[in-house]
Amino acid sequence: MSSSTDGTLTGQYVGRFAPSPTGPLHFGSLVTALASFLDARHHDGRWLLRIEDLDPPRESPDAPARIMSQLDAHGLHWDGDVLFQSQQLSAYDLNLTHLRERGLTFPCKCSRKSIRGVYPGTCRSRHFENTDPPYAERLLTRGPPVGFDDLILGRHTFQADKDFGDFIVRRKDGLTAYQLAVVVDDEFQGVTHVVRGSDLLTSTPMQVVLARLLHFRTPQYAHIPVVLGSTGDKLSKQTHAPPVEETSALSTLRLALQVLGQPESPGTSVESLLSDAITSWDITRVPRSSFLM
Ligand code: GLU
Repeated sequence: MSSSTDGTLTGQYVGRFAPSPTGPLHFGSLVTALASFLDARHHDGRWLLRIEDLDPPRESPDAPARIMSQLDAHGLHWDGDVLFQSQQLSAYDLNLTHLRERGLTFPCKCSRKSIRGVYPGTCRSRHFENTDPPYAERLLTRGPPVGFDDLILGRHTFQADKDFGDFIVRRKDGLTAYQLAVVVDDEFQGVTHVVRGSDLLTSTPMQVVLARLLHFRTPQYAHIPVVLGSTGDKLSKQTHAPPVEETSALSTLRLALQVLGQPESPGTSVESLLSDAITSWDITRVPRSSFLM
């Protein structure tokens, strides 16, 4: 594996799908899985599965097994062992320690309610009599704008002070924050390409900042449009999106390919449909705007 001058990975493609096990996959999450699978396989790459079980109160114990059964039924077979974030806690602690020891984090006792919009840096220079828990840890963000070239959405540039501020890397409840965990795991798994929903586009600059600070390579990003329900909200567990059924895999895949702007395949089995879709996959055909169901 090598990196180009801007630190973006080149060489053997490694993609991944990283669902949070809050429930079974719905159509929107299947579209994301399919897009990252097709992009990886089209480039003869590896495709990994990571279960982001980092937030037990939000999770459903049955979800990991169901997600795997849904992926299998849709022919989305991953390579190697599944990585569970719950197995990675010491790696998160180690990387947080690296940041802390370099003076790049600070404790914050602000309540979520007290912050409107971008965190204004309230605790940056606040002196605490003691830093007994509970407190969160935030990354001290500064420096030039953060830019990246998205394979679907093009060039995006964000400014730390205006767009995301000092963000949380360790939560008040002691759990590692999503931004840090994802960056550590993408590096650990050698991920070169992150294809995921555009609802995470605003997380990407924070992840790029963290990757640079930790001297990790920055993956290539591609954000696909999110699928919206009839009310205009993103399909999700919160909006009661129904699970995709293993028994209707073929018709679900056809619809997912249509959402992704890919050509229709005459395939009459999951395998033949996917084989055609891998060959004809063209990321430039993926629409840039959200898809309304
Ligand atoms: N676990 C996140 C989710 O299910 C996705 C994280 C990612 O792809 O970076 O929304």
